[in-house]
Amino acid sequence: MKFGGTSVADLERIRRVARLVNAEREAGRQVAVVVSAMSGKTNELVAWTDGAGAAAPGLTPSDDEYDVVVASGEQVTAGLLAMTLRNMGVPARSWTGWQIPIIADDAHGRARIDEIDPTKLGAAMDGGEVAVIAGFQGVTRDGRIATLGRGGSDTSAVAIAAALGCGCDIYTDVDGVYTTDPRIESKARKLARISYEEMLEMASLGAKVLQTRSVELAMAYNVPLRVLSSFVEPGEAPGPGEDHLGTIVCDEEEIVEKRIVSGVAYSRDEAKISLFGLPDHPGVSSTIFGALADANVNVDMIVQSKARTADTANMEFTVGKRDAQRAVEIVRSVQPTVGFEDVQVNDDVAKVSVIGVGMRSHTGVAKSMFEALASKGVNIQVISTSEIKISVLIDAAYTELAVRALHAAYGLDQL
Ligand code: ASP
Ligand code: MG
Repeated sequence: MKFGGTSVADLERIRRVARLVNAEREAGRQVAVVVSAMSGKTNELVAWTDGAGAAAPGLTPSDDEYDVVVASGEQVTAGLLAMTLRNMGVPARSWTGWQIPIIADDAHGRARIDEIDPTKLGAAMDGGEVAVIAGFQGVTRDGRIATLGRGGSDTSAVAIAAALGCGCDIYTDVDGVYTTDPRIESKARKLARISYEEMLEMASLGAKVLQTRSVELAMAYNVPLRVLSSFVEPGEAPGPGEDHLGTIVCDEEEIVEKRIVSGVAYSRDEAKISLFGLPDHPGVSSTIFGALADANVNVDMIVQSKARTADTANMEFTVGKRDAQRAVEIVRSVQPTVGFEDVQVNDDVAKVSVIGVGMRSHTGVAKSMFEALASKGVNIQVISTSEIKISVLIDAAYTELAVRALHAAYGLDQL
């Protein structure tokens, strides 16, 4: 069981978490619980490290000490939950990353889990104790605390489940994965099931329910995953038209109802960079994207096409808003070598995507998307596709309109 920040936001909610944990135990199961920090806590800790100059220009980045500070929020909730369980008469103890241990690499602030030794944890659970684990953290081979990137408690939970050989229930403040953001489209529906691959696309395209890495891990180790609400008392009856079953994330083969499109995702964290009059010869893209990669700028969509003038090309690519200015500077720095005419940046754009494994075997999915957008007068700036998704870059002002139009076009309100 994994509980996110809003689920452990105060002692009242921690007590409800304890009741949910106890209900599982009374149903005869051994339980490992992974907790996040109380909501807002990690942001506060990060802000403190900023104030202390964690990575101030001109100083050596103190990334390892950053991790010591930001990992502390989870330790607090793990201790509080273990204490609460004990007070209910449930044997429990807290575990930090190094105590298990969860071995991570030394990429501080965005570390990846290398391995987990479940021996001690398993022994304690066999002895009847609930294991309450601080999420988001591991320990490097040389004994330093390392955190797994924002949202990393999801990954902790899936990794623990993989190590213990069990399923993973992610309890959160929504009751499952929706066809799109219900704040934008009130007709959004909860999905009973979604495939790992679709969930992975949804997560990386902007749906914030699960950390992308956690879905990758669940897929790689075949961990049965479920997303459900923690705001429900154990045994509470669902309201009319509701269920408390959450959304199951599983293999495509385990999904009976076949849909062509499962969801519509969007991201406003986009900026488009356009390069005009590039010389059309080998090595140009390699120089430009080589320089961006060296500076750790993550590039998403890339489109290049021939310009009308002989021997030149135009190119557009997208990066996160935060990286836009830096990307332009880097591109300008290679201008003398590459020799293009002009560069422009537009960060008033959004990316809207439709996702579904059914696209692999159905025609006309793109056509429906473009028709729906055209009928609302939404202009498409860039298009990119993969086997199971189509993304378009549009003017940010049309984000909601586009999401709603696409949600209706694929009949997602009638699932
Ligand atoms: N507390 C960490 C964060 O806010 C990790 C997590 O909650 O998943 O990013
Ligand atoms: Mg989260």
